[in-house]
Amino acid sequence: MGNKEQSMSIVLENVIVSDANSAKKVNLRIENGLISALDENPLPISPGDTVVAGEGKLALPGFVNAHTHLPMSLFRGLADDIPLDTWLREHIWPAEKRLTAADVYWGSLLSLAEMIKSGTTQVADMYFHTDSVARAVSEAHMRATISYGIVANKLDKHGKDELAMARETIERWHGAANGRIRAALSPHAIYTCGRDVWAAAIDLAHEKNVPLHTHLCETRDEVAWSLTNLGQTPVLALNEIGAFSIPTIAAHCVHVSEEEMAILAQRSVTAVHCPKSNAKLGNGHAPVVSLLRAGVNVALGTDGAASNNGQDMIEEMRMASLLSKGALEDPTALPAREVAMMATHNGAEALGAGARRISTGEDADIVLVDLSGVDTVPAYEPFSTLVYAAHGCDVTDVIVAGEFLLRDRKLFTIDEEQVKYEVNRRFGKAFAN
Ligand SMILES: [Zn+2]
Repeated sequence: MGNKEQSMSIVLENVIVSDANSAKKVNLRIENGLISALDENPLPISPGDTVVAGEGKLALPGFVNAHTHLPMSLFRGLADDIPLDTWLREHIWPAEKRLTAADVYWGSLLSLAEMIKSGTTQVADMYFHTDSVARAVSEAHMRATISYGIVANKLDKHGKDELAMARETIERWHGAANGRIRAALSPHAIYTCGRDVWAAAIDLAHEKNVPLHTHLCETRDEVAWSLTNLGQTPVLALNEIGAFSIPTIAAHCVHVSEEEMAILAQRSVTAVHCPKSNAKLGNGHAPVVSLLRAGVNVALGTDGAASNNGQDMIEEMRMASLLSKGALEDPTALPAREVAMMATHNGAEALGAGARRISTGEDADIVLVDLSGVDTVPAYEPFSTLVYAAHGCDVTDVIVAGEFLLRDRKLFTIDEEQVKYEVNRRFGKAFAN
């Protein structure tokens, strides 16, 4: 769906922006995909400008969901409240084997629609049928780093085929959609890829100059497996193989020691905290406060919707903060502004794209959150209201690279009814239809 407003400049009037110290009302001009002006005084309006009244709305850099598997929205609620191993072996993996390229396309669009409607502008994805994922991202006009998830014990025929798929994904999609799509290389995890496979993947990442995106220290079983089979923890093993010579996005980092945190910080690894998925699968809670204190860049992710069961970054921020406070018995742990930085700035830093803050010259990836609803007034402090009170449905407008993807809660680039119809037609049970 095109829109004649898309190529014109946008003026956001009287939106609330907040930095580390204070909140204020400003006016923003967006043109050529960038924030071109920010002023507390009214901006001149030209004929053809799209003017948005922003009273009562907080303007934020778009949320960056730094770890997910977009098509897994198809398995939302498929199998809950069961042990992780049973969940994977008896439900998720068999269901994934049956997925077609078309299923993956519709599942990706379903997640992207949910993401846009809750303020996410950029995502790091790992899956298969990556052409379908990329096509959905491209059509949705989202910003994304996509990757093919490599699972191979040896560099045999299967291992080489997996690496070839990963190479193809990079060659086909890195820099596509006016640069909004980038690619990464994703050996799935230390326990699902053999040493030779890791070494070949690292070589390929160097050759293509793309980051690594993997799962790291998600479960106690993973650490135990690594100690038994490799004689060292996953972080030490990957460091020795040379993985961290490449910018690395490491999902989870739940079971890491102080020594390992120091390595992650020193090697510029981004830890992606996925608190809901970790809690729901009974895997524990990542030592987020310690990771941040150690100097690690910590971003935020939902993981796939099968273990979440959504893709809503406002809920993820709230979960991150509350679980840290509860686990540490400390109400000052992970305050609202810090967790909002993780969900925006730190994710954009990790992926090397998108807006890191609301200021001139930044990419115009902006979301407006209505703080005037019955769930949010009186909004004493914008970030406290956002993290502890607001909901995804309070996001009214979403702009990526200067284009509206959501305006007044209406999706511009995705036909929501068609997506729901296709997903229900393929996967829906009687209750959902
Ligand atoms: Zn994952």
